[in-house]
Order: sequence, then structure tokens, then C-alpha cells
Amino acid sequence: MPAPLFLVIAAPSGAGKSTLVGMLRREFPLFEYSVSCTTRAPRGEEKDGVAYHFLSREEFERRVAAGDFLEHAVVHGNLYGTLKSAVEGPMAAGRWMVLDIDVAGAAQVRSIVAREPAGSLLSRAFLDVFVDVPSEEELRRRLVKRGEDAPETIERRIANAAGERARRGEFSRVVVNDDLDRAYAELRGLVLAKTGGAS
Ligand code: ADP
Ligand code: 5GP
Repeated sequence: MPAPLFLVIAAPSGAGKSTLVGMLRREFPLFEYSVSCTTRAPRGEEKDGVAYHFLSREEFERRVAAGDFLEHAVVHGNLYGTLKSAVEGPMAAGRWMVLDIDVAGAAQVRSIVAREPAGSLLSRAFLDVFVDVPSEEELRRRLVKRGEDAPETIERRIANAAGERARRGEFSRVVVNDDLDRAYAELRGLVLAKTGGAS
């Protein structure tokens, strides 16, 4: 069995996190992406159950009350959460997990991991990385280029980015996504250092 990996990646929206996670998943088939639940509407070509499980607010709140979530948070006015079931099965089967969540969700996961006994699967596997943008101007350029959000949504994401970037010091690692290939090389280096080799 390869060394376990429980990778939590957070970033301001538009920093290039999905791009980097996609590159990791292509290179390392052992990665299992945790499909989150959200109350936001699908964007572009997003399919239910692939990008997210798209839930009504009522259904989301019912699942919070049922204790189905490992973590959940309000991001840009919508609810987002990671299901325990999305993580537990694959981890037990030896898969590498990658969670693309916000800084508040990452903080919840960090405190869960901190309460685990030393040497437990989760604490051995845990790696939290913040992907940052070189500047706010570059973040705006990328969000405009992506072409998926209305102008007011882009401005909201930029306003939220300042708060997220202020919390990057909470993460054990920060990767600045300036040049994509350079940033990817750094990220894959962290993965390999944590797991001690290829999958
Ligand atoms: P996120 O998942 O963090 O919201 P995306 O991966 O969707 O961000 O990236 C936002 C946009 O920026 C996309 O159009 C993507 O192709 C582009 N992008 C990603 N990384 C870089 C980079 N290093 N330099 C320039 N553009 C980038
Ligand atoms: P988007 O709407 O652009 O897909 O995502 C907006 C933000 O929500 C991103 O920062 C993303 O990482 C975060 N997010 C996605 N899924 C989850 C989740 O399950 N939990 C938390 N806490 N944040 C999430």
C-alpha cells in the first residue's frame, strides 16, 4: 500500500486551484477527488455529481443536522461541504484524497486532524496547501479570462480573496501560482515529499 495522503487545497477563487488539481489527478491516478455538496447553481457545463452534488438549501441543512459533513462553510453566500462518506471509504481503500475547499473549511479539517491520535491514518496523511495568486490584478485577469462569472460575481470573488489571502499563514505550505508549470512542479514536489515516492 502506498503512503496515505489527505491533501487539502485552498485558494482564492480564480487562483488556478482547479487547474493544478486537474494536473495532479492526471499524473497520479491514485488521487480521488472529494465531490463536495453546494447550494450554488451549476456554472457552465458543470454536471451534478461530478463537479458538485447540487443540493437545495433545505436538503443541505438536513444533511448538516444528520451529521453527514466532515466540514461545511458559507462561501460567497452559498453553503459548501465535504461529506464524510466522500472521504472515509476511499481513504480506507488506500486512495489519495484531494479536497478543494475554502479557508474556513480547511481550518475545520485542521482541527479535526489535530484531535486525532498521533500516528493515526489521518494525521500521517494530512497536507494542507494554500495556492496563492501573484497579485489582485492577476486574479482579476484570470477570472475574466475564465469567462464563467458575471462581472458582479467577479468583484465579489476579488473582495473575498483579500480575506482568504490574509489566512494563508494557517497553512503548512503556500504555493504561489505565478507560472503554471513552475507552481505545478512545486506542488507535485510537496506530494512526493509527503508520500515518499510515486503512486
Ligand atoms: P480556481 O479553481 O482557483 O478558481 P481555475 O483553475 O479555474 O481557478 O483558474 C482560473 C483561470 O486562470 C483559468 O482560466 C485558468 O486557465 C487560468 N490559470 C490557471 N493558472 C494560471 C497561471 N499560472 N497563469 C495564467 N493563467 C492561469
Ligand atoms: P466555486 O463556487 O468557485 O466552485 O467554489 C467557491 C469556493 O468554495 C472555493 O474556494 C472552493 O474551494 C470552496 N469549496 C468548494 N467545495 C467546498 C467544500 O466542500 N467545503 C468548503 N468549506 N469549501 C468548498
